[in-house]
Amino acid sequence: MPLFDYRCRCGARFEKLMRSWREANPDCPRCGEHSERVPSRVALVGGARPPVGADQAPNSWEGTRRGDREYVAAWRRALDRRSKLEEKYPELATKREAIAAHEGVFEKAPLTYRELAQRATSSGDANSAAAEAGRSRKPTDQVT
Ligand SMILES: [Zn+2]
Repeated sequence: MPLFDYRCRCGARFEKLMRSWREANPDCPRCGEHSERVPSRVALVGGARPPVGADQAPNSWEGTRRGDREYVAAWRRALDRRSKLEEKYPELATKREAIAAHEGVFEKAPLTYRELAQRATSSGDANSAAAEAGRSRKPTDQVT
């Protein structure tokens, strides 16, 4: 079972073993409010286990906390490390690129972390980067 890190608006941080990353986030043990998952220190720092792969990244806009800049950047760094590792160890390679959003305007042309990070570089903000990406996906522009 993977160990996940969570944080709460009250400032509490805690870890919890979960059956899968799709499981609902646990309530904060301190204040009882809904918590948010943060990329696992173990997974991000490396150590004995390989860094997280694209198949473990959140793959919905909600999952990225609506494009939370710090969160997306942390995932992007983790996935970059994973990519480098996969160059050395091809057997670790995952088939698909990590998807940051795939609903609504992104249904036919999913927004990848790579694209989100590239767009966010100019604006410095993942939210406006994602909005810009959404606008560029007007039905007439969609890649088929
Ligand atoms: Zn709390």
